[in-house]
Amino acid sequence: MRVSIIGTGYVGLITGVCLAYKGHTINCYDINKKIVNSINDGIPPIYEKDLKKYLKAVLNKKKFNANVISEINLSKTDIVIIAVGTPSNEGRIDLTYIKKVSALIGKKIRDIDKFVSIIVKSTVVPSTTDTIVRDIIEQESYKKLGQFGIGMNPEFLREGSAIEDFMNPDRIVFGYDDKQTLELLKKLYKPWDCDKIAVNTRTAEMIKYANNSLLATQISAVNELANIASGIENIDILDVMKGVHLDKRWSPIISGKKRIYPDILSYLIPGCGFGGSCFPKDVEAIRAKAKDVKVDSYILDSVLKVNNNQPYQVVKLLKNNSKLRNKKILFLGLAFKNGTDDIRESVSMKIINILLKYDCKIFAHDPIAINNAKKELNGLKNLKYINKWDDLIPSIDILIIGTKWDEYRKLTSSIYKRDVSGKILLDARRFFKPEDFPNAKYLTIGRNIND
Ligand code: NAD
Repeated sequence: MRVSIIGTGYVGLITGVCLAYKGHTINCYDINKKIVNSINDGIPPIYEKDLKKYLKAVLNKKKFNANVISEINLSKTDIVIIAVGTPSNEGRIDLTYIKKVSALIGKKIRDIDKFVSIIVKSTVVPSTTDTIVRDIIEQESYKKLGQFGIGMNPEFLREGSAIEDFMNPDRIVFGYDDKQTLELLKKLYKPWDCDKIAVNTRTAEMIKYANNSLLATQISAVNELANIASGIENIDILDVMKGVHLDKRWSPIISGKKRIYPDILSYLIPGCGFGGSCFPKDVEAIRAKAKDVKVDSYILDSVLKVNNNQPYQVVKLLKNNSKLRNKKILFLGLAFKNGTDDIRESVSMKIINILLKYDCKIFAHDPIAINNAKKELNGLKNLKYINKWDDLIPSIDILIIGTKWDEYRKLTSSIYKRDVSGKILLDARRFFKPEDFPNAKYLTIGRNIND
């Protein structure tokens, strides 16, 4: 099939490359010429495992190319996928980009006889596709739904494992309001053998929000329990959660013997809160939608409240154990999670921002995300970005682990163990065990134990 994708960020680019890899012919469009040139040169503008390899493969096969949006041509396309950003604006979804591209698509299909379906892949609040997107396209194309199609196909990929997630999804959701679009979606995803569910576009939109809201709720619930446990003393919430996980409703016992440890358990590990480009903004957006339809959102309000407070919990933990003024802190890991260069809503950056108020000197490292971090926070007297962290350890007072990058594992080797001895090591991610650093002051969320 011939597919056009608008927006070549984390979702659009991965979608385009993976669809091309499965045999479709893809034209991607973006406003950013630098991004377009870089993609066509085989250099992904974002960091994602295996992306370079897949991008090169589809470019070589001539199955994929990128263009600037001003050159958009939809005369031969079967499907247009919208994958532009839907950021948060004061707690509400900002549909500026969605509206802009909907208008452009409308204009571009005005004089085309061929039936084309416009599929929203961006995360949008329920009823966006079948009202806002549809109305704009009808208005700009002088056509009615039926002469073109609309659909909603939420994306569940996770940065850090995006290619793997797209290639081997747990499910694909077909949101459709016209039969032709459903048939096109089925054809598009024919090469994928997984559970597929067909629903109306509003349900598809809501599936994405329900999914992310429930995961975010688990994280905030366990973080609140962790904060309570550390107030009581001599409890490690991780031990508590191990006991909880053994409930067979969390980790089922198959045939009375083998226990399965589902991925969901990883959302029950206490930490510094959720970040990234999706959870915070999606919970905010559905909460705002709840207000629009005059429904209270007590749980989601609390999920965000707990999460917004969690970086302060990390700093409180430090303050309870050390004076911060004039201390030298090595901060390892700035990306919102390992495997990505994305620092949107990164908890590490939030913690750094709070720490800077205490007049400490921060040396910040990330193997991939430093350039993006510099775009957000730079030129400050007390914040220095470093490319090499090993040499610094002997001279610092506090070490903070903000992202679980593999390269930080080497801290457990004997040479580094010696260097961190006597210092504070704050493991905001539960990357290590307290016993890994018997001679350091090991601090982490949900553990208030006098070793
Ligand atoms: P992103 O910011 O990385 O990418 C958006 C791209 O759209 C940018 O490259 C931007 O230049 C481009 N763009 C903006 N306006 C445009 C226009 N008028 N014409 C052409 N291109 C334009 O965003 P993302 O992380 O890829 O997210 C896209 C959507 O997918 C969002 O709704 C997000 O919530 C959703 N989503 C993201 C993820 C994720 O992990 N990042 C996962 C699932 C769903």
